[in-house]
Amino acid sequence: MMRVDPHRCPDCGEPAEGTVDIVPGIAQFGDFSEDGITDWAGGTRMCWDGQMPQTDAQGRTLVQCEHAHDWWAVVEGLEPPPPEPTLAERLESLGVTGEDLDELVHDAASRIGSEVNNSGLAGQLRFLLEHGVTLQEIEQATKKEDA
Ligand SMILES: [Zn+2]
Repeated sequence: MMRVDPHRCPDCGEPAEGTVDIVPGIAQFGDFSEDGITDWAGGTRMCWDGQMPQTDAQGRTLVQCEHAHDWWAVVEGLEPPPPEPTLAERLESLGVTGEDLDELVHDAASRIGSEVNNSGLAGQLRFLLEHGVTLQEIEQATKKEDA
């Protein structure tokens, strides 16, 4: 966020459309002869990372309205608004603790376990491997007595 002062055009009263920026561009040469002769190729490669507003000796910035009237204005950055508190921060401020959610977490995890078990062997293996269970542990748990 920023504040622009004055933000209205002194000529027509319209608000500033934006700052009048300088953008460096590489006006491109064509092919060179051996003795360094060339001509304009006709294109310009714009260097958008070098885009800069124009400022005067007092640090004011050149701005323009949509009618192409220019004027110098003070453009100050404003502090961004503080971030919204997260859900956890809001609950904490109401006195909620992790213990209050224990049962909900347990129920949710149990529901996930049922869904995985209903997904069949391939889904169960994928889940186990994704959650840090090793192949060795899986082999031990599934070992059948020699037939
Ligand atoms: Zn104007």
